[in-house]
Amino acid sequence: MIIGLTGGIGSGKSEVSAILKNQFHLPIIDADTISEDLVKPGRKGLQAVSRAFGEAVLTDDGELNREVLRQRISQNDDDMRMLNSVLHPLIESEVKAQIEEYTRLGEKHMVYDCPLLFEARQEKFVDLTVVVVCDDEERTRRIVKRDRCTEEDARKMMAIQLPQEQMVSRADIVIDNNGSIDDLNRAVAFVMDKIDRL
Ligand code: ADP
Repeated sequence: MIIGLTGGIGSGKSEVSAILKNQFHLPIIDADTISEDLVKPGRKGLQAVSRAFGEAVLTDDGELNREVLRQRISQNDDDMRMLNSVLHPLIESEVKAQIEEYTRLGEKHMVYDCPLLFEARQEKFVDLTVVVVCDDEERTRRIVKRDRCTEEDARKMMAIQLPQEQMVSRADIVIDNNGSIDDLNRAVAFVMDKIDRL
């Protein structure tokens, strides 16, 4: 079973992913790590980005200049679309390769941890979607503590994402993370038990 895991920022998605990895020993296919790795020096993604945007998006050391790229895509929708069209196929082919590899290894379940599972139409890769939710007030507190940012910053990051209600309406399974970490561990165990019986 390929489990698609998502949730808004501060919901506890990473915490759930860590529980699934460390306690249930599930392989994790991590969308953020894949996209970060793809733009490391010498990797295909960085070559494709510099071909599309020019050398100006590289630092003197040949690394991705994230600040320059961020500015370009935040000011110009065409640039944002171009970045997506360059990177998405590469990300998707890496996701497919990892799914194939874990399947070949005989893994019964695997997790696709993807913050933009719905927005980037990644549900096509998974058999079942799990969404982690938490009330906005609590999420704000947890983001401020984790990222050492202001409440305003936290609220802004939450506001640009798909609203939690929409994620919930598209989820097969919802994990409520308003309680303690122990509660979360119990909820994940319950979900895994359910998945095992499917
Ligand atoms: P996400 O990956 O969804 O952005 P995280 O899993 O990083 O969220 O959780 C946000 C922060 O809240 C982290 O610092 C995490 O350790 C903490 N956290 C997550 N769940 C709980 C919980 N149930 N109780 C207390 N802190 C939590």
